[in-house]
Amino acid sequence: MDIVAIQAELNALEADCLRELEAATDAAQLDAVERKYLGKQGSIKAMLSRLGQLPKEQRAELGKLLNQSSARAEAAAAAARDRVKKGALAAALEDKGFDVTLPGRLPAGVLRPGSLHPLTRVRRELEDLFTSMGYAVLDGPEVELEHYNFDDLNTPPDHPARESQDTFWTTTPGICLRSHTSPVQVRGMRWWRKQGFELPMRAIAPGRVFRNETVDASHEHTFHQLEGIVVGEGISIAHLLHSMKTLLRGVFGRELTVRLRPGFFPFVEPGFELDAQCLHCGGKGCAFCKHSGWVELLPCGLVHPHVIAAGGFDPGKHTGFAFGLGLSRLVCLRHGIDDVRHLLSGDVRVLGSFV
Ligand SMILES: [Zn+2]
Repeated sequence: MDIVAIQAELNALEADCLRELEAATDAAQLDAVERKYLGKQGSIKAMLSRLGQLPKEQRAELGKLLNQSSARAEAAAAAARDRVKKGALAAALEDKGFDVTLPGRLPAGVLRPGSLHPLTRVRRELEDLFTSMGYAVLDGPEVELEHYNFDDLNTPPDHPARESQDTFWTTTPGICLRSHTSPVQVRGMRWWRKQGFELPMRAIAPGRVFRNETVDASHEHTFHQLEGIVVGEGISIAHLLHSMKTLLRGVFGRELTVRLRPGFFPFVEPGFELDAQCLHCGGKGCAFCKHSGWVELLPCGLVHPHVIAAGGFDPGKHTGFAFGLGLSRLVCLRHGIDDVRHLLSGDVRVLGSFV
């Protein structure tokens, strides 16, 4: 046999090999083709044994041709492998059983990082904002005496807020779960006086409050408020408005569309409701704002003289303003949460989105 015949046989083998690589559709078929032609026992390699049949001067030439042929076949095999792999991935992505939006799996032993609850973040931000303006941060008990929760706040004995459909009462008469953070107004004033601190007194009191309410998208039985109070000589509505504007700019990072309505609360005179335009629907109306386009953000007003007196100050000389900010509602507005119940649900899918 001469080199021309062997060369023709080699070319035919190479062509077969390339064609079969081309036709292979999965890794198993590719393995088989590679074994058949390129493996140690493969037919292209087997051609080496034919070298002995040739005259010496032609052996080097055939050796070179064999190497070139093997190299081309191996390159074609690598390309075919790449093609099959990409095809498998594309098929997997198209398969409806494979959801590419699923989060990746953490390796065993690696803990998912935790994050602060959005309420905690907002509370801390507000504490920073107010302490930078000279406010003290006060705390008060969640299980409260009736007289701090109602009497000292100028709430008449027959006021409906005292009724059990609004307030959670304990089995001990005169003790309830506080229905607002306002008891800290009187507790705070007394404490301030006792400490002998200078006026004006400036304080905030963030915390949990409880109402016996029907739970819906904008009402929870447990929610978070932030009480604020400033008492001194000559404190006026102008001070109140300035502080509220500073507060909302700090919280939302921009001027908010707000409106003031007269509001009645026993512990302020005059009292106001400060509403913000609903950030969900831009004022068009949605479930969160009860289709009104506005969200009650904070009741505020000048501290009632009776409350000033209950705090141990002189209502003839001292005036003040107070406000109660609904932290839960604020968090919903800021993060576009349309249901306040998510905040206390403990659902990690909700909490994880604030990492
Ligand atoms: Zn709305």
